[in-house]
Amino acid sequence: MKKATQVIHTGIEPEKHTGASSVPIFMGSTFHQTDIDEIPAYEYSRSGNPTREALETALAKLEGGTRAFALASGMAAMTTAMALFGAGDHVIASRDIYGGTYRLLSKVWTQFGVETTFVDTTDLEAIKEAGQPNTKGLILESPSNPTLAITDIKGAVAIAKENNWLTLIDNTFMTPYLQQPLELGVDVVVHSATKFLGGHSDLVAGAVVVKDKNLGKKLSFYQNAFGAILSPHDSWLLIRGLKTLAVRMEASQKSAEIIASYLAKQKGIEKVYYPGLVSHKGYDLQLQQAEGAGAVLSFDLGNREKVKKFLQKTKLPLVAVSLGGVESILSYPTTMSHGAMEPEERLIRGIGPGLIRLSVGLEDPDDLIDDLHQALEDL
Ligand SMILES: *Cc1c(COP(=O)(O)O)cnc(C)c1O
Repeated sequence: MKKATQVIHTGIEPEKHTGASSVPIFMGSTFHQTDIDEIPAYEYSRSGNPTREALETALAKLEGGTRAFALASGMAAMTTAMALFGAGDHVIASRDIYGGTYRLLSKVWTQFGVETTFVDTTDLEAIKEAGQPNTKGLILESPSNPTLAITDIKGAVAIAKENNWLTLIDNTFMTPYLQQPLELGVDVVVHSATKFLGGHSDLVAGAVVVKDKNLGKKLSFYQNAFGAILSPHDSWLLIRGLKTLAVRMEASQKSAEIIASYLAKQKGIEKVYYPGLVSHKGYDLQLQQAEGAGAVLSFDLGNREKVKKFLQKTKLPLVAVSLGGVESILSYPTTMSHGAMEPEERLIRGIGPGLIRLSVGLEDPDDLIDDLHQALEDL
C-alpha cells in the first residue's frame, strides 16, 4: 500500500463491535479481569489502552517498524528513548539539534551519568572522531533545526554499526511520509507528534518507533515504567490528524518550495535555508534519502530589529513556537525553540539574531507570498 492509503487504513480499522468509522476513545483507567490465571489483553491504561494501541499500530506500520510507543510529548518520547542509556555511557548528538533535546542531554541526562558530545553530524569524520571507548549511541536530526542541515543518515549509521553504537533519529521535520530512517538502518525513531503528525496545532504528543523486537521490549518496559503515556483522548486526536498526513505534507511541501524560491530572490534576505533549493549544501543528499525537502525553511533578515518589524507586519502566519500545523507558523529561534541554548552555542550553530523559521501551512501559497512581500517592504 502507498502511504496515502496506509495513513487511513493501517491499525485504524472500523470498530469491532459496532462498525463505527473511528476508533472509540476508551477512557477507562483499568479493565475487568475474568480469570486471574490469564494474562489480560488490557490491564491498566498506563501499560496499554485500546485507543493508544490503535495509534501505536498505525505509527509502527507507517515507519516500517514493529512497535511504536505513544508518549505525552516529543520530549517525553526522547526521554523514554534515552532510558536505553545509563550511567557511564557516552552519546554523540547532532550539534544543531532541537533546543529542548539539547537541554535534556546537556542538563538532565548528565545528572544520571550520561555524557553527550555535540558534533556537526553533516561531517562524518567529526562523528568518527567523537567516538570514545564508552560511546553507546548516536543521536541524529536531519534536516536539523532550524538551519535544515542534512546528515548522511546511511553514512552515519555505518559508522555507528562499526562501533556498536545505537542510532536514534528525530524524524519530526520529515515524518514517515517523507523519510523512513528505519529503512536506512537507524535503530530508534523519535517524533514530536505535536508537529506534522498531529498537524493541527491542537495537541502535544510524541512517539518512539523501532524495528528490532528486543528494543521494542525494552521501550515497552520504559514506557510503562516512566509512565509518560499519551492519553486516550489525545491518541484519538493524533489518529485523526494522521489520516490526512499525506495530503497535508504534499500540499505544504509544494508551497514551501514556491516560497523558498521566492525568498531566495528577495534583496533584503541574506540567506535562505531549505534543502529543496539547489543552492542548499545538502540538496542532493536530501533527495537521495528522503522523498522531499519538507515544509520548514529558515531565512536570515540580518538583525533583530528587522525581525521584530517583519513579525509585526505579517498578518497570515502565527508568530509562535512550534511547526507542522495547518496554519503557517513563523518563529524566532533565538527566543523560542533555541531560547534554552546559551547565546554562544546558538551562534556556533548559525542561529543568528536575524534568523526566522517558517513552517508552511495549508494556506494558498499566493496569499502567503503576498503577505510575506508586504512585510518585507521597507524593512
Ligand atoms: C517540537 C520538537 C520537539 C519536542 O517535542 P514536544 O512535543 O514539544 O515535546 C523535538 N524535536 C523537534 C525537532 C521538535 O520540533
